[in-house]
This record gives sequence, structure tokens and C-alpha cells, in this order.
Amino acid sequence: MSGYSDDIVCPRCGGILHISGDWKPIDTQCGFCLDCGMQFWTQFNIMDDEDLQEAREEYAADMGAPMNDTDRSKLDKEKLKAFDSWAGL
Ligand SMILES: [Zn+2]
Repeated sequence: MSGYSDDIVCPRCGGILHISGDWKPIDTQCGFCLDCGMQFWTQFNIMDDEDLQEAREEYAADMGAPMNDTDRSKLDKEKLKAFDSWAGL
């Protein structure tokens, strides 16, 4: 098993925050507070072309790296489909 669960102090109310997470295929975490009802979870989303280009530009500037120009239409569709299915995309 790669997952975990724990009870920690809720940062909102000081009550019991039950959290659980997993490391595979990527770090995810979710949780809910038994006292105040706050809940949170890891969400996945796919950026549109404009947002992706902006993120690439910011990344290249921040990291001093060359601009990534990967053509998304050439990515492995089966691999994308498998992950998207797991992530609920
Ligand atoms: Zn709480």
C-alpha cells in the first residue's frame, strides 16, 4: 500500500482533521474536519492553450530554462487516457 491516513489538528477550528493521501501515481491528499466540516482535496485540471503558454513562459523566466514547446497533440494518447481516467478528468 502506498497510501496513508492520519488525524491532525484542524487549522480552522482546532478540532480533529482526518486526512488521507497517496503517493502514486502522484502525491494527492484529501481530508475533512469532524468538528467544523471543512473539507479539501487534490484537484486535477487541464490548462487551455493560452494558460499553458503563459505557464511555460513564467516557468522559463523563473527557472532560467529554455521555453518548452511540446506539441500536446503528439503526446501518448493512451497514457493520457489512463491517467485522466484515474484522476476523473
Ligand atoms: Zn475544523
